[in-house]
Amino acid sequence: MKPDFSKGLIPSIIIDQETKDVLMLAYMNEESYQKTLETQETWFYSRSRGELWHKGATSGNTQEVQSIELDCDQDTLLIEVIPNGPACHTGSRTCFFDSIQSGKTDAEIDPDILTNITKEVKERKQYPKEGSYTTYLFEKGVDKIGKKVIEEAGEVVIAAKNNDPNELTQEVSDLLYHTLVMMEEQNVSFDAVKKELTKRFAKKGNSKGDRPDIADW
Ligand code: AMP
Ligand code: ZN
Ligand code: ZN
Ligand code: ZN
Repeated sequence: MKPDFSKGLIPSIIIDQETKDVLMLAYMNEESYQKTLETQETWFYSRSRGELWHKGATSGNTQEVQSIELDCDQDTLLIEVIPNGPACHTGSRTCFFDSIQSGKTDAEIDPDILTNITKEVKERKQYPKEGSYTTYLFEKGVDKIGKKVIEEAGEVVIAAKNNDPNELTQEVSDLLYHTLVMMEEQNVSFDAVKKELTKRFAKKGNSKGDRPDIADW
């Protein structure tokens, strides 16, 4: 397959091979595409200057081509390069530094929260702390922890029956925490569970990357 230049210029997305960051987007005509293949450096067609353009010709910031991919309908190129300097004429490594909307990661969510709780639970077991509820649970042992897991599981169901999302959030949090304490009491690591879930997910997810059908579990 080769790019289809019949409808005009072809946008080429330039990626840093090492970091996979998008460095820039520029257009190619057939001539610049051929030059790119020949020289293994990027060449474009400058729409503003109306001419063939060897990236880095004046700045020295050429780009060594590592791979070239064509999209589904042959009208866009994805090119991985090793950049010999900033891709942007402003001197920025990438042209994309002006954020209009940044990633929607909630500042109030710790993505490693379950791991972090596990660490603290482990610490409370190893070094009992006066007045700590977790330490109290470990002192009482598996029966007490087991009762709490069952109690919280029951409360999860009640919250769901009440159609109360706030209550459900609280009760699921209670259940997760007590489950982590139970695991620690039995010396089952959170990593072992993650490993098992990863294995099941890989088996059930199909090649299109769809989610497994959790209802089958
Ligand atoms: P260069 O190809 O790096 O020697 O830069 C030559 C000229 O091309 C610059 O003065 C800019 O006008 C233009 N240019 C270079 N890099 C970019 C880019 N990433 N995006 C748009 N224009 C660029
Ligand atoms: Zn396309
Ligand atoms: Zn730029
Ligand atoms: Zn509860």
